[in-house]
Amino acid sequence: MSRIWISKGTTLYHATLTKNVKNIKKMGLVPFQPTLWVDAYGRRQGQGQVFVFEQKLDAIGWAGHIGWEFFKKTATDDGKVSVLSIRSPRGDQWEVDTADPALQLSSTGLLLKRYETVPPSRITAVKKIYLKDMRAFVASDKSKKKPKGRLIEVEDEPEPEIVGMPKYPDTGFYMPKKAGEYVLWNVEDDEPVRRYCDTCEDDRVVEVHVWPMESSGYFNEAELCSACGAEI
Ligand SMILES: [Zn+2]
Repeated sequence: MSRIWISKGTTLYHATLTKNVKNIKKMGLVPFQPTLWVDAYGRRQGQGQVFVFEQKLDAIGWAGHIGWEFFKKTATDDGKVSVLSIRSPRGDQWEVDTADPALQLSSTGLLLKRYETVPPSRITAVKKIYLKDMRAFVASDKSKKKPKGRLIEVEDEPEPEIVGMPKYPDTGFYMPKKAGEYVLWNVEDDEPVRRYCDTCEDDRVVEVHVWPMESSGYFNEAELCSACGAEI
């Protein structure tokens, strides 16, 4: 996946149901919420990440899509869908979403995602989307919109199923602020940590599963046997 590093504070945009806004203002944009992310065929998209658009125009277009999906009409005419402005400070990191190539191609800017919570303090504006906004969206010349050049691509790497999670001998575990499944890695020996599994009755590679705690910035972890999934 391609990672984006915000070089200078900028604003990103998130479309959601207006009824969710109150909770988002309290909790922020939290990963692993029921997703609004549905592609052209009605399939739920993503794996629980937070999604934002680089361009407000794309968020408005997506608001229309959500309105259609949830209310089976352009429900945006009565403000049932809102677009949130998200302040993204310098150094903030996102990944470019490529799950829906058709959407990426029809967008003027990038579609970004991540597992990290966007705290409520970063929500700078909430705009209910009405029919006039959708009309403006449809009539707009999307080719004139250019990315702002504040998003710098820092890396291009294949997305691994499971990546190494380093274990430092002195400091205990290095905990990535990212949900996922990791192999516990012994940095000194440069190999996976193995531990005796009572269930398998053998030495097994240790997997660390990391997931965010409900409505907080902290993460839970569990160490599991890579063969049988039992705690190890
Ligand atoms: Zn086992």
